[in-house]
Amino acid sequence: MHIRLALPSDLAPTRDRLRSVLGPQRPEHQLDPVSQLIKSLLSARTYDEVSWAAFIRLRAAYPDWEALVHATQAELEPVIDPVTFADQKARQLPILIRVLLLKRGELNLDFLATEPVDEAMAWLMRLPGVGVKIAASVLNLSTMNRRALVVDTHVHRVARRLGLTGRTGDAREAYDSLMDQAPPEWQGEQFYELHWLLKGHGQSLCTHFDPACGLCALHEVCPRVGVSGDQERQVIAFDA
Ligand code: SF4
Repeated sequence: MHIRLALPSDLAPTRDRLRSVLGPQRPEHQLDPVSQLIKSLLSARTYDEVSWAAFIRLRAAYPDWEALVHATQAELEPVIDPVTFADQKARQLPILIRVLLLKRGELNLDFLATEPVDEAMAWLMRLPGVGVKIAASVLNLSTMNRRALVVDTHVHRVARRLGLTGRTGDAREAYDSLMDQAPPEWQGEQFYELHWLLKGHGQSLCTHFDPACGLCALHEVCPRVGVSGDQERQVIAFDA
């Protein structure tokens, strides 16, 4: 059972308020599921622009992902550097590809497009190095476009402050809680949009250290769970 600390709004009104500020977020540049899995692995604790650049270099060096099976850490690390934990990721990638080939006999995750989402999530999370965020990324951000919310650190923080998920608890609990609250009619596009809106909000106004609550479109409905008055960014208004 998931306990919500507050109920300031549903996900749909939250989405609508953020969309009015940040604009609609539509899926574009979607990768095939295997490429998204590799991209998501590179993205862990890494800025998007850094992980995208690393992904593009990796793709250029290994146009056939299967060739990663034989890549060594020494070969991969300089290609993906400076992603965070480049050494670990350079070790993990060939193992991940090897496990995929062993499990499926080919490098193809298209079968997950028709599995129930919970089962697809569980299957992905049994892969080495794959947690709830990467699993949801593969299902939602790729061309599969499935019904799963990617809960990264920004999404988790904003959802917690809004009272949409527990004050404590890990990403898995946040994922489960937010998915439970999602309107049943929502499809992959709505989850995709909510992810990018919450993430964009977390990167711009609802930042880790100094949320700018005075400027926030959710100010009136947000209980600001865990945000102290001292922590709020001081917004100074200048008269024209
Ligand atoms: S009111 Fe403050 S804590 Fe709440 S979502 Fe906005 S910036 Fe974040």
